[in-house]
Amino acid sequence: MTDLPKTALNPATLAARAGGAIDFGSGGVVPGIYPATTFVRDADYVPLADGNTYLRSHAPNGRIVEDLLAQLEGAQDAMVFPSGMAAVAAVFRTVPNGGCVLVQQQIYWGTTAWIRDFCARRGIELVEIEAADTGAFAAACEKHRPHLAWIETPSNPWLRIVDLKAAADAVHAVGGALIADMTTATPVLTRALSFGADVVMHSATKGLNGHADVLAGALAVANRQSALWQAVHADRDMAGAVLGPFEAWLLLRGMRTLPLRMERMSANALKLAEFLQDHPAVETVLYPGLPSHTGHALAVQQMTGGFGPLLSFVVKGGAKNALQAAGKMKLFHRATSLGGVESLVEHRHTIEPHTGIPEGLLRLSVGIEDAGDLMDDLGQALGQ
Ligand code: PLP
Repeated sequence: MTDLPKTALNPATLAARAGGAIDFGSGGVVPGIYPATTFVRDADYVPLADGNTYLRSHAPNGRIVEDLLAQLEGAQDAMVFPSGMAAVAAVFRTVPNGGCVLVQQQIYWGTTAWIRDFCARRGIELVEIEAADTGAFAAACEKHRPHLAWIETPSNPWLRIVDLKAAADAVHAVGGALIADMTTATPVLTRALSFGADVVMHSATKGLNGHADVLAGALAVANRQSALWQAVHADRDMAGAVLGPFEAWLLLRGMRTLPLRMERMSANALKLAEFLQDHPAVETVLYPGLPSHTGHALAVQQMTGGFGPLLSFVVKGGAKNALQAAGKMKLFHRATSLGGVESLVEHRHTIEPHTGIPEGLLRLSVGIEDAGDLMDDLGQALGQ
């Protein structure tokens, strides 16, 4: 890992000011939307602006978001993609046929399902491991010597906490790279590169954008000269997984309030977790902000300013009671996804019945509404 650039300003300032981007053409405080797919050269055949020639390789709106994300992450560079899964795929396509990858167990189901299929097709050895078990993770690195290790912290929907520094040390010792899906935390709560991760990944569809109206993904890197980053860059330029100008513009608008939203969501989620852990209809609450959570001490070390919007709890009485409670909720939308300003509830067992998710588990994405209103809604749905 090389030295990361020093970020002089704090996240709230960087985000609110979109990293300093304005519309230099008009003087507007908000950058414009630049839909041009091709860019003019002068009489000497030199591109008129910023080396721009063609939108697939030079996307001005994407570049503004990438600059802001890189500053928030303390990264040397960042790239945006048309979905989180496009960013996942871009990283895995750098692994050679016949290579080896280590992937955390029980992470976002879509990531696991896609990686399993991809590795089978490409003859890549896939080792799935409980990465919250630091010893097991290190032993697996030593045994399999993976090209890359993929972790997610806090994980979705189990809220497991992975020791980023220990994971980075273990995979670096065998020459591999650590990629951390930090969708749930966002750079406001954890800057994974500062703990030794090589690349951070986000489903920007979630907290980064925060308004459930943009599908996007992002990567940020500690060392822009690394072979992995160069390969991902070349792959995006040529294979064309590029975020459109309007989506990038909307994402930038969402990111202006990211620190404010994460603070409020985290405060709300902690209040709801405390409420739920004392509720007689609830068996268990999974939230890293609770002292009873197995990853709490580590979360306190790795997360700053809160523990994020994602919280799972198991309703006593299994699927029937959980679905009944979800059905009675009036404020929580029954919908998938997370990290938006409005609260959501999801019965994950219905979506992924064969992955060991408890039948009574409900996953909440806690929004920025009034915490008292949310608590009242949960209370009436669970029956007080
Ligand atoms: N990673 C995590 C943790 C997710 O929750 C998701 C989506 O739910 C993804 C990756 C995939 O992102 P997208 O839906 O933007 O493709």
